Amino acid sequence: MKYAIVIPDGCADEPQDSLGGKTPLQAANKPNMDRVARGGVVGRSNNVPPSLTPASDVATLSLFGYDPLQVYTGRAPLETAAMGIALGPNDWAIRCNLVTVENEEMRDFTAGHISNEDGRALVEAVQGALGGGRLEFHPGVSYRNILVYRADVPAPFSAQTTTQPPHDIPDRPIAEYLPKGPGGDLLRSLMEKSRAVLAGHPVNRARLAAGKRPATQVWLWGQGKAPSLRPFADLYGKRGAIISAVDLVRGVGVLLGWKRIDVPTATGYLDTDYPAKGRAAVAALADHDLVCVHVEAPDEASHEGKADEKVKALEQIDRHVVGPLLEALPRHGDWRILVSPDHRTPLRTRAHAHGPVPFAIAGTGIAPRGQPSYDEAVAAAADLSFERGHELMKLFLG
Ligand SMILES: [Zn+2]
Repeated sequence: MKYAIVIPDGCADEPQDSLGGKTPLQAANKPNMDRVARGGVVGRSNNVPPSLTPASDVATLSLFGYDPLQVYTGRAPLETAAMGIALGPNDWAIRCNLVTVENEEMRDFTAGHISNEDGRALVEAVQGALGGGRLEFHPGVSYRNILVYRADVPAPFSAQTTTQPPHDIPDRPIAEYLPKGPGGDLLRSLMEKSRAVLAGHPVNRARLAAGKRPATQVWLWGQGKAPSLRPFADLYGKRGAIISAVDLVRGVGVLLGWKRIDVPTATGYLDTDYPAKGRAAVAALADHDLVCVHVEAPDEASHEGKADEKVKALEQIDRHVVGPLLEALPRHGDWRILVSPDHRTPLRTRAHAHGPVPFAIAGTGIAPRGQPSYDEAVAAAADLSFERGHELMKLFLG
């Protein structure tokens, strides 16, 4: 049996006035996802336990069949794994966003979707000024960088250290959201000091001159130690592959023992190369039992509050990823496909949210239930619901 998972990140949403009262999933022309719904089963699953922050780290762990309440240690350690940086038993990884703060408000958690080249230069400047000793600032992709705190004895952080995902405080005053608890003073001081390092940097001067948003400081959050995850092949008996432009999601896959397949033209943004991701997924079916394609674009559209872009992203995923997979899977014999976002990202709040998401499964041995399309309303009306999202994997794998 061959399995494919397609994740339109954050696609689950609410009805939009600008879309004539439809959700983005309902408004999108997505014949292939609807084929999965009509030929199989649509239901709901909750990938984020109430006690954890809704984000792709926790939610993809659930979607991949792991209970986040048992295995989740933080976002940054998962990204660090994807970047090939090893963590010792006392080391902590901390997400280091390049952000734009204006008038002490979080204007842009991406610093204008800063390019890899600009981001790298700025993170290297921060490393030069503030790194060394226990502190390592590592450039990642775009605004998503990592700070590693190396420790031979227990580090100053603990489970009581509280930090704030910057994407969930758009345009809000940052003062109430600064790190607190054990080690919070160190994180606050690094964030504060980074302002002076970045203020006069040539990269920022050039960005301002070009009308782009400057990275005014680093924002530290998502801290954690390395998690220990049982390999997916041991737990479920399948060899997996992951295709994603986002370090976080790749990191989860890598830690499960899945092969990481890179698509150089994938951007993790609305301008990603959808056909290349679809082609890579189809090719990967030959050597893997399970291939997972994650597309970040619908989530980014929500963070920007752009309903039309969210619809467009869903249509591209449908046409260039789900379509080719539906065509290719039957050529390998028995097959199944799962379409599901990780978490909800309502356009109304432009932030991630708790709550159930719709999924659709079709393929060998799945009896159609006569559900007309893949969307939130059809899922809500279904009698199939997983309060603990990680249990869905067992149904999917049969
Ligand atoms: Zn997001």
